[in-house]
Amino acid sequence: MRKDKSLIQAPRWWLLPGTALILLDLLCLASALWLPLPHQVELLAHGLILLCSLALLVMLGSSWRQLQADQLRLREGLAVLDEGLALFDPEDRLILANPAFGRLDDERQVRWRRGTPFETILRELMAAEPVREAKGREEQWLRERLLRHHQPGEPWVMQLANQRWIRVLERRCADGSLVYLRSDVSELILSQQARAQADEQARLAQTRLHEAIEAMPAGFELWDAEDRLVMCNQRLREQYPEMADLLRPGARFADLVEQSLAAGRIPAARGQEAQWLQERLRQRGHSAQPLLQLYGERWSHLHECFTPSGYLVGVRLDVTELIHTQQALQDSEARLQAVISTAGVAIITADSTGLIRSANPAAERLFGLAETELLAHDLRQLVDELDRPRLVEQLHQLGEAGGAQSLALELCARHRSGQALTLHLSLAKVLGGGTATLVCVLTDLTERKRFELELRHANEQLLRLSTTDALTELANRRLLMQRLDEEWRRALRSGEPLSLLLVDVDYFKLYNDHYGHQAGDSCLRRVADVLRLSVNRSTDLVARYGGEEFVLLLAATDLQGAQEVAERCQQQLKAAALEHALSPLGPHVTLSIGLACGRPLPEASAGQWLASADLALYQAKAQGRNRTVSMPMH
Ligand code: GH3
Ligand code: MG
Ligand code: MG
Repeated sequence: MRKDKSLIQAPRWWLLPGTALILLDLLCLASALWLPLPHQVELLAHGLILLCSLALLVMLGSSWRQLQADQLRLREGLAVLDEGLALFDPEDRLILANPAFGRLDDERQVRWRRGTPFETILRELMAAEPVREAKGREEQWLRERLLRHHQPGEPWVMQLANQRWIRVLERRCADGSLVYLRSDVSELILSQQARAQADEQARLAQTRLHEAIEAMPAGFELWDAEDRLVMCNQRLREQYPEMADLLRPGARFADLVEQSLAAGRIPAARGQEAQWLQERLRQRGHSAQPLLQLYGERWSHLHECFTPSGYLVGVRLDVTELIHTQQALQDSEARLQAVISTAGVAIITADSTGLIRSANPAAERLFGLAETELLAHDLRQLVDELDRPRLVEQLHQLGEAGGAQSLALELCARHRSGQALTLHLSLAKVLGGGTATLVCVLTDLTERKRFELELRHANEQLLRLSTTDALTELANRRLLMQRLDEEWRRALRSGEPLSLLLVDVDYFKLYNDHYGHQAGDSCLRRVADVLRLSVNRSTDLVARYGGEEFVLLLAATDLQGAQEVAERCQQQLKAAALEHALSPLGPHVTLSIGLACGRPLPEASAGQWLASADLALYQAKAQGRNRTVSMPMH
């Protein structure tokens, strides 16, 4: 940059004395030249001239030094400026530019000679630091820029390709010269952009907050420190349609409540409106629990709390449906409780571990324990020790199974008195509230079990009586016929032989006649014992056929085996030596046996065995009695 005096204001302090000295100098000079002065005066004039000239020279020298110093300061001042400054003459040629004007972002320094045209400087600047908005249309942008340069106006900013923002200010001076101020405002622009972004975000956040409040499925209200409404959402106005017009910013809470009380819309306050309002205002915002309020016919839960800045936030949730459901549930629960209390069956509830939680009066009666005593028990403790593992296993299975489950089992338990109980337990796992509850319905089967047992015994006895001969306790004829039929069919299927012995006491009429009927009965019992002892197999059947006649039915027994049994009967009776004084055969009771043996054929029948045995018996009688006659069937 060259020195330019035109920018430096000349020191003015010497104007008055300088002018006076010049005038004095000129006056002395004129006097010396044109006035006929005496020599001594002329010398004085010349001396004054010299003095004035010297004084002028000193003053000029002093001013020159001051000008030099001022110019130096100006140069230094311009050099330390962060803003780039350039001065152009009216023909748009550079007069001066400070270092910041040509300092580029990458620390390069461009210097221009005095007289460099403005357009040249502009092109070089563009080449060094391209303007972002000029990209791809550099010439057009340059033309627009030059046009703007000729009519300088307000300062403007442009962004360089390197993202920096440059503020340009051009001002024309009165003599047509131009001051060009170029400053880097990147930080300012960035901070402005950041602030604009922050403002936008704040606006968006506010919009979102407002939208969220409006979208809440509950009434929202905000009150200031003087309990005046700041804002509320549309949902609140919908919840309180009668108050919708009054829910405006600035409305006092107490006024609104008073209006509602006057209209009788708060049933809980009827008859004591003033006290209710006082209490309501006292509790306002201080209750940890939500306030349940009936307004008109709608129930709502009101949550109130203070913000740190002393505002009060209220959220009103319409819970009318919930309250109605709760009331219905309570009614239903009361009904259920009444049913459980009066139920004839014992009902016990227990937690998932088996700990008893409740017991109805029937359960108290069943175990002879008061409910308080039952509550100290575990379900397992109520059951007899032998049945406990079964119950534990079932409880475990129930616990393992997902969802609601049920099972039933029969268990033995004990009344407090020690009386044994047979119980039918229906166990159901009910899920609710995240926990499982066991519902046990206990039916007392003790009486029924006893009755069933008695009935079974009676039936068994009846069956036994209906198939047993009362005198000898052998199978009776009915059972014999049934078994004969069964064994005949079995033998038919298997092809095995079937034997039947028809045994008759010889001369038994004489026995009766001699010893009496009771002795005869006793004799028949002894004969029955002998016959019973003569057979070994479990499948052998000894039956009383009628009177003094018996049948031995021997399944899977061939002729030889049957003859052995017949022989054993004869021998055993002989060994028993039952006295028979009138028998023509000897002193003891004897037997005649008709034996039928063979393999059944499909065309034959079981009855043939009886008939053949009877025929064989007839032959044994005819042949002299006390003997066995065999009759092979096929
Ligand atoms: P037989 O050698 O030919 O068989 O002559 P029996 O006398 O034994 O035969 P009979 O048929 O003539 O008589 C049978 C007798 O058995 C008649 C009856 O008094 C007697 N009797 C039948 N059932 C009973 C009974 O249950 N108890 C007693 N004590 N006697 C009976
Ligand atoms: Mg007979
Ligand atoms: Mg006889």
